Amino acid sequence: MVRRIAILGSTGSIGTQALEVIDKHSDQFEIEVLTAHNNAELLIEQSIKHKPNCVVIVNEDRYRQVFDALDPLNIKVYSGEKSLASVMEMDSIDIVLTALVGYSGLLPTLKAIETGKTIALANKETLVVAGELITKLAQEKGVNILPVDSEHSAIFQCIVGEFQNPIEKIVLTASGGPFRGRTKEQLLDVTKAQALNHPNWDMGAKITIDSATMMNKGLEVIEAKWLFGVSLDQIEVIVHPQSIIHSMVQFEDGSLKAQLGLPDMRLPIQFALGYPDRLKTDYPRFDFSDYAQLTFEKPDVETFRNLGLAFEVATNGGNQPCILNAANEIAVQGFLEEKIGFLEISDVIENCLKRVSYIRTPVLEDFVESDKETRAVALELI
Ligand code: NDP
Ligand code: MG
Repeated sequence: MVRRIAILGSTGSIGTQALEVIDKHSDQFEIEVLTAHNNAELLIEQSIKHKPNCVVIVNEDRYRQVFDALDPLNIKVYSGEKSLASVMEMDSIDIVLTALVGYSGLLPTLKAIETGKTIALANKETLVVAGELITKLAQEKGVNILPVDSEHSAIFQCIVGEFQNPIEKIVLTASGGPFRGRTKEQLLDVTKAQALNHPNWDMGAKITIDSATMMNKGLEVIEAKWLFGVSLDQIEVIVHPQSIIHSMVQFEDGSLKAQLGLPDMRLPIQFALGYPDRLKTDYPRFDFSDYAQLTFEKPDVETFRNLGLAFEVATNGGNQPCILNAANEIAVQGFLEEKIGFLEISDVIENCLKRVSYIRTPVLEDFVESDKETRAVALELI
């Protein structure tokens, strides 16, 4: 049966790679919805090729351009942030790939779960902000959340077929990013261009900066906690600069399973979209003779404070992960706009955590409010 896919954020790094996967397996998938924030040109080009039922261009100033191009093709065009959530109600969608960046994914993902769609989750920030809310709702609605993040896909691939065997420990691998091994002094003056130059992965700007600061791994720890129902002391982060082992699971008999492969996001994307089948590909294969050694080291949490901060907020729970996420989004933007230095990203987050009030058992409105308040505080700090 053909699976009908909605891609939230089709013009981004994950979105475009997902379309490549879908294109190669057009007998298995059909595109139902595509969305973009600003990139009207690419959204139009993708829509002409993949003929979705409808598209959303979030920026209302771009609506006319998209409408004029796609209305003659009988493709419905919507605009505005709210439309992202409302199109998720369409009965004709089977799987929603959440490839938006940051907090913007929260409300559309909630709507997709509410209306029973399978989620292929790339947008990790959604689980960081409101992991408990999301996973509870998914359970209530009987909705599967299939990970797209490469580490979480690796863990998922390790536990497929092990459902009755509890996880003892998750070993989350990290590349260490472009600044692995540097001291604080050496990080004082690093530039935006250096931070954007990731050694192993070509990704969107926000996650690339998160990788350089190790916040990405911090967000992934929280993501793993919710996806796999483990406690924080069952998650270990290990730096593995070659990015070949994408993560590991240790079971109660002490056995460790790992998933390996070349760093290529098309693989985890297609594992989620095609689950439980493995779809045939002609992508380059890993060759042991190209890698004389695979190495491992402990993360430097003194220098890369964000990883420690993420463990802290995950321990405190409540709205703290939401505060951390919002502060990080604003701080990363500030760094990309060259308003603050690399090390100041953690300062902004720490200050926001002190200044925005703690809510122990937040409901959705509290997350919306905490996100808004934190952004205002962070902007003031920058
Ligand atoms: P990109 O920045 O490349 O793409 C983001 C997409 O979301 C674009 O389509 C963009 O539209 C749209 N978008 C951005 N901001 C908003 C907003 N406020 N409202 C609505 N739409 C918006 O990001 P990535 O593809 O790199 O990352 C997407 C998600 O996947 C992130 O959560 C990231 O952490 C996660 N992820 C990414 C990986 C990767 O390899 N890239 C790996 C693992 C996880 P437009 O193009 O018009 O701006
Ligand atoms: Mg990852």
